[in-house]
Amino acid sequence: MEHSTKNIVLFGAPGAGKGTHATLLAEKYDLIHLSTGEKLRDEVARETAIGKRVKELMEHGELVGNDVVTQMVDQSLQSAPAGSSFIFDGFPRTVGQAQVLEFLLSRHNRRLDFVISIDVPREELVRRIHERALISNRSDDNEATIRHRLEEYDSKTQPVLDYYKVSGMLYSVDGSGSINETGNRILQVVGRLI
Ligand code: AMP
Repeated sequence: MEHSTKNIVLFGAPGAGKGTHATLLAEKYDLIHLSTGEKLRDEVARETAIGKRVKELMEHGELVGNDVVTQMVDQSLQSAPAGSSFIFDGFPRTVGQAQVLEFLLSRHNRRLDFVISIDVPREELVRRIHERALISNRSDDNEATIRHRLEEYDSKTQPVLDYYKVSGMLYSVDGSGSINETGNRILQVVGRLI
């Protein structure tokens, strides 16, 4: 089976800039930007059954159940036009989800091509989330929740990096500088691979 499309995971801790850089890459390379966090916030805002289930978990900075995000990703893959490419932002967040992603992609005749990790030191992550809290209306950008989101990242999401490192798909980028600096570093890597 030919794989002319590219499917990319943009990986990083809360505050690393995944949303910003996934949006920029999606525009530049005509990728479908799939942010599970955005989709979940939309469910909460529309007060759907899923939204009601996940609202409290999100407000506390907990990961939501695998079944919910898995179904979202599956539906997006299902409805994607042939020949389209994806950038995944905020998924996978556990090793289990990384395995599910492989399974779902293969079911839709796709594969994961590479993973870009945006690496940002912890103090800078905390500074950025606090800064964002002043201007965003995200209910999970508050002191207690920020701490818990980072704990969830350390215990459940960080191991995903090793998983992809072993498979040789991982490319790490220094994300400690400005949006422009990080964006250029990401483009250097993606330009070589895409
Ligand atoms: P994000 O916008 O990616 O920072 O996600 C915001 C929140 O949505 C997270 O703190 C989780 O509560 C939830 N969430 C987003 N993506 C996932 C995922 N892949 N697995 C579990 N929970 C998720």
